[in-house]
Amino acid sequence: MKKRAVFLDRDGTINIDLRYLYQPEKFVYLEGAKEGMKLWQQAGYQLIVITNQSGIARGYYTEDAYQKLQDWMLRDLESAGIHIAACYYCPHHPDALAGRYRVQCDCRKPKTGLFRRAASELQIDLEQSYAIGDNMRDLQICRESGVRGFLLYSDTEGTEKTRRSFIKRVRGGIWETAEEMGFVALYKSDDESGNR
Ligand SMILES: [Zn+2]
Repeated sequence: MKKRAVFLDRDGTINIDLRYLYQPEKFVYLEGAKEGMKLWQQAGYQLIVITNQSGIARGYYTEDAYQKLQDWMLRDLESAGIHIAACYYCPHHPDALAGRYRVQCDCRKPKTGLFRRAASELQIDLEQSYAIGDNMRDLQICRESGVRGFLLYSDTEGTEKTRRSFIKRVRGGIWETAEEMGFVALYKSDDESGNR
């Protein structure tokens, strides 16, 4: 049976976007991000991270450095009881200095190649899935498939004219998406009925 998933952007969605971040010691989670991820997980969604990492193509950090930060984040989240099913990243950019990254790929968002790959490799039912990001390019998949989305509020996106009914705008990050989905009430009432 196919699984449902929530596709998470990384910078600006899970952690504060410091632009071309690659050092674990500078990685700071956004408020409520971990708690929100946990609620999605408890509600039965696979957590999948999809991230543009053009810093690799631009030569700001290596693929190896990216990988180290990713491994650190996965371990850190595991220690908080949060399991990320997979991370997919695009290292490309059309203006890259290094030839092998200088391609018009199909995986740099807004392209949806990584979503399709994840869906195929992890047997994800897109019709039952969601995407969360702080930029409309994170939500292009919603226009091309049955994925529904949450756009995390930011000033630049506040004027976005092309929002669709299947993309909801929220201010409070991943936590608020969980609240919108009703997970918060659900698990709160579970806790209260528990044997404490
Ligand atoms: Zn790419």
